Amino acid sequence: MQSITILGSTGSIGVSTLDVVARHPDRYRIHALTGHTRVEVLAEQCVKFRPELAVVGSAAAAEHLSALLRPHAPGIEVAYGEAALCEAASGAGCTTVMAAIVGAAGLKPTLAAAQAGKKVLLANKEALVISGPIFMEAIAASGAILLPIDSEHNAIFQCLPLGYQRVPQDHGIRKILLTASGGPFLDRELSTLAEVTPEQAVAHPNWSMGRKISVDSATMMNKGLEVIEAHWLFGVPPEQIEVVIHPQSVIHSMVAYADGSVLAQLGNPDMRTPIAHALAYPERIDSGVDAIDLARIAQLDFRQPDFDRFPCLKLAFDALRAGGSAATVLNAANEVAVEAFLERRIGFRRIPELIADVLDSLPSVAIDGLDGLLEQDRAARERAHAMMNA
Ligand code: NAD
Ligand code: MG
Repeated sequence: MQSITILGSTGSIGVSTLDVVARHPDRYRIHALTGHTRVEVLAEQCVKFRPELAVVGSAAAAEHLSALLRPHAPGIEVAYGEAALCEAASGAGCTTVMAAIVGAAGLKPTLAAAQAGKKVLLANKEALVISGPIFMEAIAASGAILLPIDSEHNAIFQCLPLGYQRVPQDHGIRKILLTASGGPFLDRELSTLAEVTPEQAVAHPNWSMGRKISVDSATMMNKGLEVIEAHWLFGVPPEQIEVVIHPQSVIHSMVAYADGSVLAQLGNPDMRTPIAHALAYPERIDSGVDAIDLARIAQLDFRQPDFDRFPCLKLAFDALRAGGSAATVLNAANEVAVEAFLERRIGFRRIPELIADVLDSLPSVAIDGLDGLLEQDRAARERAHAMMNA
């Protein structure tokens, strides 16, 4: 029986995870659930799944949650704040942690799970982008099992030879082919991109996701973050990572080998597939997702990404090549820019400009520990706010 903590259970990935868990009560139980502000949703989840612990973002939210739980599920401990999130992710009560908080807020709890040697199911790509080497060292030092939830990385993982992580050789891997849908603006007239609204940006053609990652998909910063994520997860250099636009989102990614073979993982665009894969690995369980109907899909298209349309993708490749703190700065500037766009304080085309300006103003420095990284993250946010307000 796996005992699971879901960091960010009220979000899109969190809800999909609970859907899979509910299908297999014989295999999984919930140790802790966490949510930031959606207290009613969290309360409903707690009543249904009966965790030992529930964590929210503030004292007021904790009080609200306790009041909602008292009549229905009085035994559940309620806590709030970052230390409580870390405790939920690293305590002896859980074997498995689904890291599904969005953005840098997930870094410390996800790292706590890695340090505690848990089975870590990683959706929170920003945590890895910010802290790549530190995070991977923590996994190696504790002997934690790291399984990717991001559909592309989960697909790549499935296309790699079994046990590739433990054998220090290249396995004849020529390239990682990361597929990208291209988002809602793939074919939109370039000159009209400046006018797009948050509602248009979050309306993804194939996937239903949280607002931040939906905007990242529209700018293709999501794919940029995923390039960096793939680099750390699979130890491949940037030259061996190629992004391919594939508008149907049926192939979730591919691995090309030295002999000319290309292995792909296909499926309907539903995150319950990678979630079920990682939960049950190396076994396979029902996820609630239907098999794909290839005759109905009929056609799979591919194209090269266009850096003029998607400058964020180039910024991410450049940050990965620059190394050091560049990816941390890129991520922080992007988080600030996306939030400002969602709040209608800046236009869509300003997102990549702002990130580029912040990267220019904070040249990459060598990483010396988590404190140094957090300092770079803070400086980049401050710079981005100052530039927006200038
Ligand atoms: P979401 O916005 O739907 O949910 C985010 C969750 O994080 C919520 O539970 C929220 O309460 C919590 N949260 C937000 N701010 C917080 C804070 N400051 N402190 C603590 N908790 C906080 O997001 P999502 O779409 O579920 O994405 C979650 C993560 O998974 C992201 O890193 C995203 O990139 C990644 N991911 C998502 C998908 C997807 O299909 N949704 C696919 C691949 C990767
Ligand atoms: Mg993805």
